[in-house]
Amino acid sequence: MSGVALSLQAQQVKVFIEHNGKKGCQCRVCAKPCPGYDHMTQKWRHLDTCQFQTILVASVPRVQCPEHKVLAIDVPWAESGSRYTALFEAWVIDWLKEATIKAVARPMKLSWNAIDGIGQRAVRRGLARRDAQPPKRLAVDETSFQKHHEYVTVVTDHDKGVVIHVADERKSDSLNEYFDTLPDDLKKGIECVTMDRSKAYIKSVRQNVPQADQKIAFDKFGHALKIMYTSVGNVYICW
Ligand SMILES: [Zn+2]
Repeated sequence: MSGVALSLQAQQVKVFIEHNGKKGCQCRVCAKPCPGYDHMTQKWRHLDTCQFQTILVASVPRVQCPEHKVLAIDVPWAESGSRYTALFEAWVIDWLKEATIKAVARPMKLSWNAIDGIGQRAVRRGLARRDAQPPKRLAVDETSFQKHHEYVTVVTDHDKGVVIHVADERKSDSLNEYFDTLPDDLKKGIECVTMDRSKAYIKSVRQNVPQADQKIAFDKFGHALKIMYTSVGNVYICW
């Protein structure tokens, strides 16, 4: 860290970070060590400090890769292409599991597009992890945005606590989109799907998951509460 600037008027804290230059830089695509090209100033929103929005500012080295041309190096605190730190994105995703997009967007001063981008990156991370270890216990939820009643369907891997699919609307087809990405053996491996009493979601699970009626669990208190599971043989109790 090379400095901190506080603006009372903007209600903002800026934290300046410098690359120490001692460590060589590598291409973020092929990971080969590459010669430096120049620096580019980038900003990321981080977790608030004393209710002040906190912005990390760094002069990020760009390297010249023979294969991938001029690219900024990866930084350890944020995913490439994001204007938010990984900790900030994790915080937003945690809230999206508990509340509607509207309820999350307003206090965090985030737009629909910003939240959508954070959600899409979470989905990509979830998919990468899903490929490594397929999900066995799913939670399906619907969430809406502002007054437009624009719903999205969110599928979460309960064991890993990661969002693995987001689809428009709250129809059977919204959930079918997720199941269509799974081969049959992974569908068989699903042990429990938790949801509200949604006819559309029940229909989709029955169409896609063998022995679905033994695997659907209803979240009777609604999605505002965290879902917890107890496993007793094949029976999952949610409370
Ligand atoms: Zn490269």
